[in-house]
Amino acid sequence: STNDSKSTSKKKVVAVVGGGLVGNLNACYFAKRGFQVEVFESREDIRQAKIVKGRSINLVLSHRGRQALKHVGMEDTIISKGIPMHSRMIHALNGTQSPIPYGKKGQYILSIDRANLNKELLSGRRMKFLIPMSPGEHAHHEYHLSEEIQADLIVGCDGAFSAIRKQFLRQSRFNYSQTYIPHGYLEFTIPPINGEFAMKPNNLHIWPRNTFMMIALPNLDKTFTCTLFMPFEEFEKVTTGDKVIEFFQKYFPDAIPLIGAEALKRDFFRLPAQAMVSVKCSPYHFGDKCVLMGDAAHAMVPFYGQGMNAGFEDCLVFNEIMDQLNEDFSAVLPEYTRVRVPDDQAIADLAMYNYVEMREHVNSKWFLFRKNVDNFLHIIMPRTIIPLYTMVTFTRTRYHKVVKHWHWQDKVRKDIVHVHSTLFKGL
Ligand code: FAD
Repeated sequence: STNDSKSTSKKKVVAVVGGGLVGNLNACYFAKRGFQVEVFESREDIRQAKIVKGRSINLVLSHRGRQALKHVGMEDTIISKGIPMHSRMIHALNGTQSPIPYGKKGQYILSIDRANLNKELLSGRRMKFLIPMSPGEHAHHEYHLSEEIQADLIVGCDGAFSAIRKQFLRQSRFNYSQTYIPHGYLEFTIPPINGEFAMKPNNLHIWPRNTFMMIALPNLDKTFTCTLFMPFEEFEKVTTGDKVIEFFQKYFPDAIPLIGAEALKRDFFRLPAQAMVSVKCSPYHFGDKCVLMGDAAHAMVPFYGQGMNAGFEDCLVFNEIMDQLNEDFSAVLPEYTRVRVPDDQAIADLAMYNYVEMREHVNSKWFLFRKNVDNFLHIIMPRTIIPLYTMVTFTRTRYHKVVKHWHWQDKVRKDIVHVHSTLFKGL
């Protein structure tokens, strides 16, 4: 689709490197402006791939991602294939399940199929496939890049291990850090029972077990995809099929009949556990020629369900700045860095914070008490006290402002609790 009203005699050419979620959404944004967009991808074509390795099968879409999709007319198509999840469903060790709503009535997040989302975003556009970068890994590739192009702008959307970002490392005053967490993840499937979902579908199921955690998200085919998060050193202890069952019996007994003992034994060893990395860098741009977005700029641990949402919001923010500054890359790129770095770093930090909170506190009375206090205060002071999760997930409040407001609220909440307990003491 094009918007020719803005295009001058010669179309500007944008090379998007990486045809993942953020690269393909970005391509929609630049095409809408009337730019000529070329997307370069190093993996095989997702539309023909049978299995898509190395990334979660489904993922959570929330407000920020939806707003970004809406701007290019994709929101309705995508949400029509998503499954609303209104609450977390906490599975205790004894099998009891208790829901904790995500927000107010009517507020929900969506479980989305990654491969399908990518296909929809591609919507008939052609990608150019690269010659394998590391022959060992991509030896089966048949694609070769047969032409060189001259681009006015290069947009690096090539994920957590970005090759474009690697070039930035040569630049003076480029800041970069990466942290691997001790946890890895593995995925399992819960098949339908008699053609129906085996658990309540409109929930994100969580089995919090301190150091370990398992979650399950529903799919349209009535299966659930379970993800087990656990330290690598614990994965290494589980070496045989029997040990897998023993481990599940100890920590996730209610999941054994749901996944199936045989499938568990098989799937535990199908792929090695995958690592998770958090990447921060700054600036996001190089001169007026190149800019990083999505995981290439800010890979984060997946515990706030915001990696893709933040990457999609990058596209929306960049687009807003393009409007403000008349598509002048020499002004737009530094402004994008100025505006976006503090926000993406704030959400990467929050995701790391939630890494601890989800595992350790979700099953504690203290966590439930705090959620109840927050929700209660939100009801009586809806503009002043807004739960952290709500600000992150259901608003477009800038992430760094979310963190500031959260710290401020924490102080207010403590003061309120203090005043109340002092009052009670006085009675
Ligand atoms: P990617 O999706 O990594 O895409 C990068 C693309 O670039 C790939 O197609 C790759 O093949 C290609 N590429 C790489 N190198 C090159 C190169 N040199 N040349 C050309 N192409 C190249 N986010 C959420 O919002 N909600 C969730 O619930 C959620 N759950 C997650 C669960 C897990 C287990 C994980 C690991 C992540 C999760 N995320 C979630 C984060 C989300 O997956 C990422 O933020 C998102 O995929 C980022 O998209 P991207 O396009 O920037 O990068």
